[in-house]
Amino acid sequence: MNISQNKVVSFHYRLNEAEADELESSRDGHPALMLFGHKNVLPALEEAFEGKTSGDIFTVSLSPDQAYGRRQEGATKRIPQKHLYHYKQLKNKLKPGMKVSVATEKGARDVIVTKVGKFSVDVDFNHPYAGKSLVFDIEIMDVRDASEDEIAHGHAHGDGGHNH
Ligand SMILES: [Zn+2]
Repeated sequence: MNISQNKVVSFHYRLNEAEADELESSRDGHPALMLFGHKNVLPALEEAFEGKTSGDIFTVSLSPDQAYGRRQEGATKRIPQKHLYHYKQLKNKLKPGMKVSVATEKGARDVIVTKVGKFSVDVDFNHPYAGKSLVFDIEIMDVRDASEDEIAHGHAHGDGGHNH
């Protein structure tokens, strides 16, 4: 089965910054699940999946503009610590460089802690991968038809996808 609209793709990936360190990998756990054609991943990455099938191995290189954009200066904000998701677990563990989630008008955003105050925290709203060229090594494990629920929700269900 080839990847096209409303197929669910199970895939392993390694994500490296170009000529630098590994940033993420799915290899230690379940393959990731993606509902194709629903913008579950970066558009330039999704494009590279089209027509592929299980067993296919390929590499996708994305410029910062195709990935998470350029770093913006002045994107650091001081916010109350209690505005962070999982604030209670994080309270005494906040450290510069840590990735945390904060509630915004557009939903949860991952931000990087730059400075920790007593009740406040300075966070950088640049995406953690902003300014980076990214290289994805992908292996397609499985391709299947999506269920009606998955199409209605706009994402894949199961291990590696949404469980709810
Ligand atoms: Zn769902």
